[in-house]
Amino acid sequence: MTNFDYDLITIGAGSGGVRASRLAASYGGKVATVEESRVGGTCVMRGCVPKKLLVYGAHYASHFEDAVGFGWTVGDVSHDWGALVAAKDKELNRLEQVYHRMFKDVGVFLLEGRGVLSDPHTVEVGGKSYTADKILIGVGGWPFIPNIPGREYVITSNEALDLKERPDHIIIVGGGYIALEFAGIFRALGSKVDVLIRSGSILRGFDHDVCCTVTQELDKKGIVIHPDCVVRSIDKCDDGQLSVMVDNGKEMVVDQVMYATGRNPNTKGIGLEEAGVVLNKKGAIVVDKWNRSNVENIFAVGDVTDRVNLTPVAINEGRVFAESFFNNSPMTLDYTNIASAVFTQPTVGTVGMTEEQALKDHAVKIYMSRFKAMKHTLSGRDERIMMKIIVDKDTDKVLGCHMVGDDSPEIIQGLAVALKCGATKAQFDATVGIHPTAAEEFVTMRDAVPDSADV
Ligand code: NDP
Repeated sequence: MTNFDYDLITIGAGSGGVRASRLAASYGGKVATVEESRVGGTCVMRGCVPKKLLVYGAHYASHFEDAVGFGWTVGDVSHDWGALVAAKDKELNRLEQVYHRMFKDVGVFLLEGRGVLSDPHTVEVGGKSYTADKILIGVGGWPFIPNIPGREYVITSNEALDLKERPDHIIIVGGGYIALEFAGIFRALGSKVDVLIRSGSILRGFDHDVCCTVTQELDKKGIVIHPDCVVRSIDKCDDGQLSVMVDNGKEMVVDQVMYATGRNPNTKGIGLEEAGVVLNKKGAIVVDKWNRSNVENIFAVGDVTDRVNLTPVAINEGRVFAESFFNNSPMTLDYTNIASAVFTQPTVGTVGMTEEQALKDHAVKIYMSRFKAMKHTLSGRDERIMMKIIVDKDTDKVLGCHMVGDDSPEIIQGLAVALKCGATKAQFDATVGIHPTAAEEFVTMRDAVPDSADV
């Protein structure tokens, strides 16, 4: 028994906050969750879910083209962007209701409005004060746009998901997850797409063979990647188009400019500094392995902590927080071998170390395969799958698996279990494949890349 209104107040009803709140309430805690926007947060309302629905929509472009090789006659096809956005919105509304219902069923009180800490145990929402024994911050992040002249004209992924019309020509700045996923969506649906990256390569931090393969495949789709290209300024033309000046003096005139240059933690203006919570240079809440900040009763999960910014990580951080503090079952999250995907076309799936990371501490053997998917022998599409396994030469342990190709996220998820179990290459080899699939290649690669055998 405490003298607080609640055992837990969670600020932010995104993936991490929702999981923590629901679990804590299911274990008997009195829980309130504060949300100023829509329950579901970035992933469900402005990120993974709506993006993936648009990616599904975009895939039909290649399906129609590929069908011809299988005997189909495909007449004139056209796409209605507005219809796709409306269908996506309908699904998001449904999901929002599901979230509201889940809160109700488990007894989480929803406090609608902006939550601001006034002291370590008190949250102000809409002019009222609520107190709690523990406070959990799960307010996520927000797109970062560099401070360039004309930044007011650009959109981010938030607005891209709700555009009234599909742009005929879009510049996307950035070469990470969001930039490339949206490049694929817009290109497949008919836009001319230029991707401007400030460095020499897309997907920094991914295995270099993944970067090269994705670059080649995006090029085949007509997505133009401009390396070493920095935007200096953006201006609005009289006809509403945007004039983009890049640092080589070139001007590009397009309908939309989208920035996907990373995201910053949403920690401004919610009373964190006032409550004494320590933030790092990027503004993220610094937490320990228990998700606890320097203030004993204030915790944080998800992108606001800027650890591994992925939805399933936030969900698991919320879970271990609730298990530890509301179910008397202390646990922490293991951040090794977290698989992730980039929903480009074709997709990327990856788990474990890249070759570059592995080489820092290990002698490695590299197994790699590039091939045409069986489907494309008839479709005629010039698309290659790339698969790569990185193996510790001394222990035979598989350190990383990477794939570029359709269904790679579905395939890599299973391999993530194998890596979590510490699988060796010999165990991969002893696994019988499923034929005919692309996935079987992961258990039939027998010969190491010659140069790598002695690395
Ligand atoms: P990323 O960090 O993946 O990529 C940011 C990109 O922007 C990089 O190419 C970076 O270049 C570039 N960049 C950064 N600052 C500037 C600048 N000032 N000028 C020009 N370019 C710049 O961020 P995203 O926005 O794509 O995604 C944010 C997060 O969301 C990711 O970290 C990811 O965890 C998550 N996410 C995950 C998805 C998934 O799992 N499928 C999908 C979407 C998002 P450089 O490489 O040179 O630094």
